[in-house]
Amino acid sequence: MIVGAGLSGAVIGRRLAEQGMTVHIVEQRSHVAGNCYTQRDPETGVMVHVYGPHIFHTDDAEVWNYVNKFGNFRPYLNRVKITSGDAVYSLPVNLHTINQFYGKTMRPTEAKAFLEAQADTSITNPQTFEEQALRFVGPDLYEAFFKGYTQKQWGCSPQALPASILKRLPIRFNYDDNYFFHKFQGMPENGYTEIVERILDHENIHVELNTCFDRTDVNDVDHVFYSGPIDGWFGYDLGRLGYRTLDFERFTHNGDWQGCAVMNYGEAHVPFTRITEHKHFAPWEEHEGSVLYREYSRACGPGDIPYYPIRQVEERALLREYVDRAQAEAGVTFVGRLGTYRYLDMDVTIREALDCADKFLRNGGEMPAFSAPPL
Ligand code: UDP
Repeated sequence: MIVGAGLSGAVIGRRLAEQGMTVHIVEQRSHVAGNCYTQRDPETGVMVHVYGPHIFHTDDAEVWNYVNKFGNFRPYLNRVKITSGDAVYSLPVNLHTINQFYGKTMRPTEAKAFLEAQADTSITNPQTFEEQALRFVGPDLYEAFFKGYTQKQWGCSPQALPASILKRLPIRFNYDDNYFFHKFQGMPENGYTEIVERILDHENIHVELNTCFDRTDVNDVDHVFYSGPIDGWFGYDLGRLGYRTLDFERFTHNGDWQGCAVMNYGEAHVPFTRITEHKHFAPWEEHEGSVLYREYSRACGPGDIPYYPIRQVEERALLREYVDRAQAEAGVTFVGRLGTYRYLDMDVTIREALDCADKFLRNGGEMPAFSAPPL
């Protein structure tokens, strides 16, 4: 049995089904594909990333080949812009951003020396988001692009967040404005839902939508792969692990509203973090109408959809307790973003799911609580 028909559940299910196992997947939502679910907007015909922007990027050739087996990927480079103060800048921070921000015409080595002079070089081993920013971009760019955005996104001070969150973003001393540094990058021509549907399209896989998982159902199955929230497995009895959830405010426009797919808003006084204009994710399509989502981040309550695991000291301590208990459980493996309470990109999710299924097959159906350690 697999709980959840997102990327983890679908990929594990497919691997096991191909080896002749019967796979039963229960999914509480009315659709597959989890948070990478895409759907055509009925009003405009635009393919919408219903749970926020998802851009596929990876260095893992096997994962790239895997997704390409299930759908056609079109070349797509994520080029994000940010509004801060009275200007629009290019992200990730690159030579254009630096020159525009400081009104200069620096060449790469000059810009590097210039930013190094702004940076706080007394920080030798940055631990927090703020330290990482002050060490590598200095206070001006930090204030304009990262501080306000991060406060809105995470609901706390960047001093309380780990440096790893900022390390997701490159800093470039050239004019390359590709948001990611991975070798393979693309967008599925017909959306992510089609890819996940095709992964699940196997005679040994049965998917039950709109079905809440009940732990008492697991007595007659050989093994459970659980991609729901780890604390949910235990009925949240030690308390809930903290997540950020998102609210999307939809609006439409006739024509091109912002000229790019994602516009971030760096300042704390603008209540939303970014605006996504979905039709720019499919530049090969033509649409007169446009649909946009203003994205607001807030603390995730019991009835909300969990998006980003917070993973600060307090949450990690609680996670430790749930992980210890999970390790004492037999016949269940916790997988994916919610099952392991980690900020996972799609490619890593697929990599881990493939590895997890392979390990299960190698071990003859025996599997520990975690294939990848969550702490
Ligand atoms: N971030 C920021 N300003 C930006 C974009 C990102 O401060 O304009 C920070 C923010 O804390 C965010 C993190 O960098 O959570 C990672 O950004 P990414 O774009 O990878 O976030 P995602 O698209 O996964 O929400």
